[in-house]
Amino acid sequence: MERYRVQPDKKFKMEDISPDDKSGFDSTKEEAKIKLLELNEELETLQELLYAEGKHKLLVVLQGMDAAGKDGTIRHVFEGVNPQGVSVTGFKVPTDEELAHDYLWRIHKATPRRGQIMIFNRSHYEDVLVVRVKNLVPPEVWKKRYAQINAFERLLTEEGTTILKFFLHISPEEQKERFQARLDDPSKHWKFNTGDLKDRALWGKYQKAYQDVLNRTSTKWAPWYVIPANRKWYRNLTIACIMIDTLKNLKMKYPKNKEDLSGIVIK
Ligand code: ADP
Repeated sequence: MERYRVQPDKKFKMEDISPDDKSGFDSTKEEAKIKLLELNEELETLQELLYAEGKHKLLVVLQGMDAAGKDGTIRHVFEGVNPQGVSVTGFKVPTDEELAHDYLWRIHKATPRRGQIMIFNRSHYEDVLVVRVKNLVPPEVWKKRYAQINAFERLLTEEGTTILKFFLHISPEEQKERFQARLDDPSKHWKFNTGDLKDRALWGKYQKAYQDVLNRTSTKWAPWYVIPANRKWYRNLTIACIMIDTLKNLKMKYPKNKEDLSGIVIK
């Protein structure tokens, strides 16, 4: 899965990874479903270990264009994982109170505690994406944010948080199909937002803003992964694998009970 990690010292271009790529798994869609169930179980065990050990914190950042599959990723990758150990925070247009603070204020408050997995559905990266594309603050303000974000994420990792950032990479054609599917199915109308069409019209500007994010904020301590996401099954398998590898690398152990349990007989 290393192929999808954006290297800090190498220029990354969007064209380097195709949203259709499926070279990491030689599966059919049906085989992928079975494989994902196995990975779900593995993730469940690792999450329990993370919770039991109570030492590490895991932050998962999900970003992508509208309909890239952020919600679907959360539903499918974490299926079966104990809901007590995993939380999701979605970041919407900031409230007045949030805007009265610095942009990392609402983010820092939502970061994971020890033993917890926190998933960010959108994140502080909106402050160099939508904010840049729609000129919500002047360039001299957002341009400083890449370095601020790197420093902030460094602080989190030095204090025991492991950070994984996933950019769900879809093509404009795939987005069109997904929007159309929402329009065609009344049970999906609630997901359709005409504002999303305005963002779609700014596709090129968003891709440029994403490319800058990937180049400037993929660090050794908080790497970005560009996930080919035109195929939902491939996206799910890839993210599940990266999460499992990352959690295994933490070399976690179940804590010992403080009491000696060896002589206990339950009557
Ligand atoms: P979803 O995340 O499911 O698309 P919404 O449709 O409510 O949820 O979209 C949230 C919106 O909030 C997005 O358009 C996003 O760009 C916007 N948003 C998130 N963070 C910020 C921010 N810091 N500044 C301005 N807009 C933001």
